[in-house]
Amino acid sequence: MQWTDEAIVLRLGKFRETDLWVRFLSREKGLVTAFAFGGSRSRRRFTGCLDVFNVISVSVASSRDGRFLNMREATLLEGPELLRRDWQRQGMAANCVRFLEAMDVPPDNAGAAFELMRGTMHFLEQEGAALTPLTPMLFRFRLAADQGYVPDLGSCARCGRPLAGLSQVNFVVGEGAACCPECRRYGDMSLSLGQEALDVLAKVKEYSPEAWESLCPSPESARQASRLIDAFVRYHLGLEWINGRFKAM
Ligand SMILES: [Zn+2]
Repeated sequence: MQWTDEAIVLRLGKFRETDLWVRFLSREKGLVTAFAFGGSRSRRRFTGCLDVFNVISVSVASSRDGRFLNMREATLLEGPELLRRDWQRQGMAANCVRFLEAMDVPPDNAGAAFELMRGTMHFLEQEGAALTPLTPMLFRFRLAADQGYVPDLGSCARCGRPLAGLSQVNFVVGEGAACCPECRRYGDMSLSLGQEALDVLAKVKEYSPEAWESLCPSPESARQASRLIDAFVRYHLGLEWINGRFKAM
């Protein structure tokens, strides 16, 4: 089996003197690990493009016994510059990669995950990008939404009333659903959200990451949105961010 696809290099390592393993996100196949024999030397076959966060065109073939994938050739399509020089941007992109790996990427969602990761790198590559801890949070929310996990935040899960226009709504953590103030019950573990935070979350589901710059929520709304995403990822996806990686709870 042999195929060629666009891919984003997520991580790589040496496993022998001149050989590399490369983990990448392919637009068609999702997360893939392949070996690049001679990868740290062969400038002709890989033209120096095996570096984290590069977007490449890659040709891959199964080994003769079908047990592993062999990277035959790769060419560079896009390589970030600012992202490579700035540790803060790099940390945010790496955080997104960890979440991708923790969630895994089913092949039917690979195209959306590829566009999301590439768009997030474009956002982080912008000179004037507002670097806030919100960016990796929004990435988590969008990836979960693309995979069909994110709840409807447009109407109250208990009475069905539209939530648009209410100054305050509640997100009931255990149910992973939003409700209006009248339907809030004593003892619900809930987070409160203002309209601006709801608006940010709705737009993140709709807009590509390159446009997230225009969201500019107030610090309080950013905090509300982050708390909701964090609670959702923890309770409904069972993932917790500990010491620089996601752990299944
Ligand atoms: Zn209600």
